[in-house]
Amino acid sequence: MIYVHVPFCHRKCTYCAFYSKPVVSGLGDRSEAKPPEGQWPVAGYVDALLTEMEKRKREQAHPIKTVYFGGGTPSILPISQLQRIVDGLRRCFDLSWVAEMTLEANPEDLTSDYLTALRQLGFNRLSIGVQSLDDRVLRMLNRRHTARQAIDAVENAHAAGFENISVDFIYGIIDGIGLIGTKDLLEKVTHVSAYALTVEPGTALAVQVEQGRVVLPDEDEVVRQYHAINQSLKDAGFVQYEVSNYARPGYESKHNSRYWDRTPYLGLGPGAHSFDGVRRRWNNPDGTVGEEMLTEADAYNELLMTSLRTVRGLSLDRVPEGQKERLQRLMQPYIDCGWIVRSGNCYAPTAEGILHADGMASALFVS
Ligand code: SF4
Repeated sequence: MIYVHVPFCHRKCTYCAFYSKPVVSGLGDRSEAKPPEGQWPVAGYVDALLTEMEKRKREQAHPIKTVYFGGGTPSILPISQLQRIVDGLRRCFDLSWVAEMTLEANPEDLTSDYLTALRQLGFNRLSIGVQSLDDRVLRMLNRRHTARQAIDAVENAHAAGFENISVDFIYGIIDGIGLIGTKDLLEKVTHVSAYALTVEPGTALAVQVEQGRVVLPDEDEVVRQYHAINQSLKDAGFVQYEVSNYARPGYESKHNSRYWDRTPYLGLGPGAHSFDGVRRRWNNPDGTVGEEMLTEADAYNELLMTSLRTVRGLSLDRVPEGQKERLQRLMQPYIDCGWIVRSGNCYAPTAEGILHADGMASALFVS
């Protein structure tokens, strides 16, 4: 599988700690007419990406089944630049096995013409950053779109032939607001990612909270919103398959599910990570590359962390022989308190337990 990182955003959302750069001022309009080809501030990025693809094309030994453009805001790219990237991928890799090709997008970018062109480029899945259908919340987060634009984006995507549409929501922002007002929108999508707002150091939100300009809901309220969201999504026909991810049956994200299965992947672009089964490698924004060989302990700890975040849970068959007895002993208290259910060889988190997945995994780590 291939991940392409697009490190540009129109402006910074208050909560975001991802690496991204604003597009050059005055050139934020994606119109193909301006700026002239070659002067687009991201053209240099695309050149570098094509060079990286060419250099690293032999690193991807496994059949490529998914391609994911993430960011940043990939939908900031004009179609002409996306076309160059997709052509480059087709030249360097065999994409004939690709079943899912996703583009992360912000609602304000998804005009009918743009969506039709994305379909023609081969994208068959969209992940749209809706975040909220409350304009107060959107303004508070410094998002550029309105609730109306988010609804229009999903409708335009349908009209352009996208059947597989994921929307992102954030909760835990204002008391009492979970997924309120989203019922009509949910009927038109196949997948939902719902994340609790976290305050990352160094973000505008961290400063606002520190200065008391923003007061976020307490933990009990966040947990209440989580359960309310679970219920709304269940009522709307979605099944939770990971701590933050819900899908209509058959529409689970193939790309993300493979990360959780620890399938090797190739990440291209500044800030992208790659994994070949034993080694992690990451591109730093300054052009340098970091690398780390995973020890047996690292690999086992990653297995614990990713498995316990999924409803499928952890199969004892994947646990190294020498760890099985310890794992069974340490899992018992979680079974006793109702956070884990054991069924056959599998330890699966309950709806309550999945909220504590990271804490349980850390307590099971080996060094
Ligand atoms: S659009 Fe996404 S990547 Fe860009 S600043 Fe907002 S949250 Fe971060």
